Amino acid sequence: MATLETLNFDNSYARLPEPFYQQVMPTPLKTPFLIAFNSDVAELMDLDPSSLSPSSLADYLGGITPLPGSEPIAMKYTGHQFGVYNPDLGDGRGLLLGEVVNNNNQRWDLHLKGSGKTPFSRFADGRAVLRSSIREYLASEAMHGLGIPTTRALALVGSDDTVMRDGMMEPCATLLRVSECHIRFGHFEYFYYTKQHDELKRLADYCLVRYFPQFLNARQPYLAMYQEVVKRSAELVAKWQAYGFVHAVLNTDNMSLIGETFDYGPYSFMDEYKPGMVSNQNDHQGRYAFSKQPDMVQWNLSALGQALLPLIDKEELLSALNRFPDLYQSSEIAEFRKRLGLQSELSEDTALIKQLLDMFSHQAVDMNRFFRTLSDYDGGEESILHLEQLVQNTHELSIWLEAYDKRLDKEAASFPIWTAQMRSVNPQFILRNYMAQEAINQASEGDFALINDLVELLRAPSNQSAKMEHYSASPPAWAGSICLTCSS
Ligand code: AMP
Ligand code: MG
Repeated sequence: MATLETLNFDNSYARLPEPFYQQVMPTPLKTPFLIAFNSDVAELMDLDPSSLSPSSLADYLGGITPLPGSEPIAMKYTGHQFGVYNPDLGDGRGLLLGEVVNNNNQRWDLHLKGSGKTPFSRFADGRAVLRSSIREYLASEAMHGLGIPTTRALALVGSDDTVMRDGMMEPCATLLRVSECHIRFGHFEYFYYTKQHDELKRLADYCLVRYFPQFLNARQPYLAMYQEVVKRSAELVAKWQAYGFVHAVLNTDNMSLIGETFDYGPYSFMDEYKPGMVSNQNDHQGRYAFSKQPDMVQWNLSALGQALLPLIDKEELLSALNRFPDLYQSSEIAEFRKRLGLQSELSEDTALIKQLLDMFSHQAVDMNRFFRTLSDYDGGEESILHLEQLVQNTHELSIWLEAYDKRLDKEAASFPIWTAQMRSVNPQFILRNYMAQEAINQASEGDFALINDLVELLRAPSNQSAKMEHYSASPPAWAGSICLTCSS
């Protein structure tokens, strides 16, 4: 096991030439202190949690002391923001510290978010605020707990420095994000739009070797890689739709090449199923509304495809892209089948799922509570009563339940097996915005305990928790008044 000082760094991205990045050191934060530490993530990089000194970790993440073995760089990328190409993006408030290789030869990027200005900061301050850092820390562990691909985080550090956000001074923080991949669709767009086609090829080769070695000997490796990105992105957004997750800023610079949920901002897990929900006050057109996410992901994939045109035949690219709707639909149905406890695959399932989602949307049902309650459904009066408490129109529910009963008759498994399997994919707890907000409110009073309690809860969200049971109930009325913006 390693200590922070002996992590096995091997910084392959930093060995690429300069147009890929600029070397930048973190800007020290005033009096950094450790707020949260994730020992599960430490394990990924063979880091021994018991060897840690909170104050030295805070100094590393607060930019006071360079982390031994790291070679901080600001990655260059561009991207389409809200549909408009922006050539001036790049790591503007974060740095790739380097890559840690563990004993199983897995390579983890360490990215310090909130580390100060870089050449790509444009007009902004290079900082992340505590509020948004807590939200990212909680969300990445909650997504992981749901089995949805995501970046993770090793630790969260606070400080006495403040910056202005939405007209108020707020404390700064840093988050050490950990993921196998920090390459965004926008990395490819940069080389394409600046006509650096040799570098575009170099980037694609780097990605093939590092993320898609299974395609190195394919007849058309770049096409195979693109097909895989299309598939993974379709599977990812299907999971978001199945759990009511709104990413809220699906710009191409927030799309991970390996299909992970990436860059948490004003995201929401919907308390009430509303297809038109927009989770970002700055998104005036509703471009990234919940129901539009599959289309927006496809749009982003087409932007990536455009950037790969110098490497892949246009017709082949288009046919790979055009597979997205089918890939998405089959993944979406598979997700909902699991949530409904259906093991066999029947063509009628599509209609059953549509009927259910229509009911959710007519009645603004809390979908996650509904699925959890449905896990205990046995056709008996009491279990029907529990479901009725979650809807406004019980008639629509009973029509759907009749169809569901008929469908269950075609399953081989029996109720107890359904219950256990359904509970495992239908969480008792989901990260609702008000929960994150409570953790933020307490943190602003200097109490960080709820952050760790929520992480523990959401890491195994299908388990019961006597201590935190209240979080499985309907959200409080004030939850509806939470306002999320790009700086959330
Ligand atoms: P985001 O909205 O977090 O996906 O960021 C979009 C772009 O703006 C990226 O290039 C970021 O690095 C940059 N950016 C966001 N916030 C800041 C900030 N506070 N300081 C500097 N750059 C930022
Ligand atoms: Mg971003």
